[in-house]
Amino acid sequence: MTDSFHMTPDEFRRHGYALVDWVARYMAQVGELPVQPKVEPGDVRAMLPSAAPEDPEPFEALVRDLDAVVLPGMTQWQSPGWFGYFPANTSPPSILAELVAAALGAQGMLWSTSPAVTEIEAHVLDWLVDLLGLPQKWKTAVGPGGGVIQMSASDSTHVAHVVARQIAVDRGASIGDVVAYSSSQAHSSIEKGARVAGIRHVRLIDVDERFALRPESLEAAIERDLAAGLVPAVVTSAIGTTATAAVDPVREVATIARRHALWHHVDAAYAGSAMICPEFRGRQEGVERADSYVFNAHKWMFTNFDCSVFWVADRAPLIRTMSILPPYLQNAASASGDVIDYRDWHVPLGRRFRALKLWWVLRSYGARGIRHHIREHVRLARQFGDLVDDHPSLLRTAPVSFGLVCFRHVDGNGATSALAEAINGSGSVYVTASTIDEQRFLRVSVGATATTEQDVERLWSIILDAL
Ligand code: PLP
Repeated sequence: MTDSFHMTPDEFRRHGYALVDWVARYMAQVGELPVQPKVEPGDVRAMLPSAAPEDPEPFEALVRDLDAVVLPGMTQWQSPGWFGYFPANTSPPSILAELVAAALGAQGMLWSTSPAVTEIEAHVLDWLVDLLGLPQKWKTAVGPGGGVIQMSASDSTHVAHVVARQIAVDRGASIGDVVAYSSSQAHSSIEKGARVAGIRHVRLIDVDERFALRPESLEAAIERDLAAGLVPAVVTSAIGTTATAAVDPVREVATIARRHALWHHVDAAYAGSAMICPEFRGRQEGVERADSYVFNAHKWMFTNFDCSVFWVADRAPLIRTMSILPPYLQNAASASGDVIDYRDWHVPLGRRFRALKLWWVLRSYGARGIRHHIREHVRLARQFGDLVDDHPSLLRTAPVSFGLVCFRHVDGNGATSALAEAINGSGSVYVTASTIDEQRFLRVSVGATATTEQDVERLWSIILDAL
C-alpha cells in the first residue's frame, strides 16, 4: 500500500490472482455447500463491526471474510442442485467480462461517453435478433426498431408501459382512464410496471387449462372498458409465465391489440433464451407483430445478472418518451443524429458496460454451445417429468414447458408443502413451491449452469426418500 492509500499495480496483480483462485475454487465446490444458508435475520450483520474502518485493512482480511461472513449467508444460486424459481445462471466468460467492465468503469449514457459501450451493445443485440429468430426490423442496423440492455425485465416492462401510456395521452386520453391488460398468470412486474407508470386500471385476464391467456376474454374485457369510456392502451402476452412457463397465444393477442390500437408487449423473460434453438420457435409464433419484447440473458443464457434485453419494433416512440437533453449532455455526435444515445432508451442516465459479458458469452460458447446446454436442460426436465408421471403419489399440474416441471402430491396441499420442506431440508437441492387457485404445487426448474443428469437423479432420489 502506498501513501496514496491505493493498491500498487503489483499488489493488485497478486491479490487479483488469489481472488480468481478463490472464485475458481468456489465454482468447483459450490455443489458441496448448503443451497440455503442457515442464518437467522441479523446474523450476518452481527458479524460486521459497528463502524467502518478508520485505517486500511490488508486485502487478505477482506478475502478471509468471503469465507467467514459472506458464504455462510449466501443462497447458492449457482449450485448444481439449484432447481428454484428460474435459473440466474452465470459462466466463466461472463464473470471475467464483469471484471473488465469494472476496470474500465465507463458510463455509457451517450455514444460519446464511450463509443465502444454503445456500438458493441447495439451490434450484439442485432446478432441476437438472428440467433433468436426475431424480426429483422428490430435490429438497430435495419430499423425502425432496436434493442437495449436494461437491468431487469421489470425495468423493460415498466418502460413499455410508460411508452404505451404516453401514446395514449398524446392521442388525448386522461392518464386516469388508461387500461393495461395481461393474463392472471403474468409476472407481478407487469402490474407493478403499469402502476409505476401511473396506470390505475390493470385487468388480469383469465386463462385456459394450460394457463395461457384466453383471447376471447381479453377481447371482452377491452370491449367492456371501451363501453365504460376508458382507454385500453397496452397488453402484455407471456412466452413462459413464471408459475408454469405457459405460453400465451401471441398471434391472437397481436390481432386484438392491432384491432384496438393497443401497444403489445411480450414478456419472454425466462423462455426467450430457448429461442436460440429453432425447434422452440413455434412457441413465439406471432412475435413479429409485437411492439416490444423482453428476455433476460441473465436467467438462462449464462450471462450473470444484470442483463435484460429489451427490443422495440419502432424506437421512435420510446426515444420520444424517454429523451430529455440538458445542456451538459449536448455534444456534436448526438446532434448529428448518427449515433445511438442509450440514455434515451430507459429511465436511468448512467449505464454499465453490460454488453461486454453478453458479447463474451456468445463468443466463448458460440451459439452451438448455448444450444447444447439449453437442449440438455430441456431434455433433463422432460425426463424428470416422465418420472413424475410414472409415480402414483405425484401428479403433474401443468405441461412440462421448456426446463420447468410443475407437480403436486396427490394427497393435497399439506402433503405437497411437506414434500417441499423435505426436499429443501436436504440442503443439497432447492425447489420452489407455489400456488394457483389455492392448489399448492412444486416447481422444478432445470437450468443452472452446472446442473447435470446426476443432479436431477439426486433430486429424484431425495423426493423418493421423502415420499
Ligand atoms: N417476467 C417473468 C416471466 C419472470 O419469470 C420474471 C422473474 O422471474 C420477471 C418477469 C421479472 O424479472 P426481473 O427480475 O429481471 O425483473
